[in-house]
Amino acid sequence: MLKCQFAGLSARKEITSQFSCLTYRQLSWVEVQKRLLKTKNAPGSKFKEDTSGNHSSTKRPRETTSEDRESHREAPSMKAAKQPEKASEAINHGEATKTSEGFGHWSQGLKSSMQDPKMQVYKDDKVVVIKDKYPKARYHWLVLPWQAISSLKALGDEHCNLVKHMQKVADQMVQQCPHADTLRFRTGYHAIPSMSHVHLHVISQDFDSPCLKNKKHWNSFTSDYFIESQDIIQMLETYGKVTVKEGMSELLKLPLRCHMCHKELSTIPALKEHLKSHFPK
Ligand SMILES: [Zn+2]
Ligand SMILES: [Zn+2]
Repeated sequence: MLKCQFAGLSARKEITSQFSCLTYRQLSWVEVQKRLLKTKNAPGSKFKEDTSGNHSSTKRPRETTSEDRESHREAPSMKAAKQPEKASEAINHGEATKTSEGFGHWSQGLKSSMQDPKMQVYKDDKVVVIKDKYPKARYHWLVLPWQAISSLKALGDEHCNLVKHMQKVADQMVQQCPHADTLRFRTGYHAIPSMSHVHLHVISQDFDSPCLKNKKHWNSFTSDYFIESQDIIQMLETYGKVTVKEGMSELLKLPLRCHMCHKELSTIPALKEHLKSHFPK
């Protein structure tokens, strides 16, 4: 990994309130990055279905993660995982209140949830996977490093291996999904890292979930606001850092458009109805 600087692109503005994850292709820059790599499923995984025993691998993720703050109790009982997490005060709780992904994550909750065995679907010495508390699709997980990394812009080339590992674990999650053959998945990060702890979204593309309620939700996962994990890896390998273009939050205001056929729909209910044709149950 080399270090480099992404010319003039580091001026990301902190948007409060907007925060979810977006991924689509409305932004040219992402467009460019996008075709770089595709998520591939890494075979062979030492996945424990579920450390809590609550969710078996065949169950769909229910709730586990984002949106609102929640009050999970801290359950510091990671066995396999050592958590450099202590040092992770980096989690700015302050910011959490204002930038807690209005439609996305509970910032503080993220930290406690990742430590809660009940929430954990997988963990190893580097990362933990939990279900998104407010899943925006039938399957929606978050891969979080134990290491406290506040945002994408805090990533450096020293994190290359970690981010790659996160991707690998994400691939494994997809692989062990009972419906991996019929559902498409994407793995990526929200462009605007106002969230307090870097997290990789692993989400099926059906977007069949009552938690997906508004345009921001939709665009955060289907526009370029959602940055492919592979693109992040690519940026780190090439430039030694991640740069997110400004104005990403504007993407959240885009009209509702089907991510499969690009048809525009006027309302969320209409969109959801339309999506049934692409992803029958
Ligand atoms: Zn997010
Ligand atoms: Zn469509």
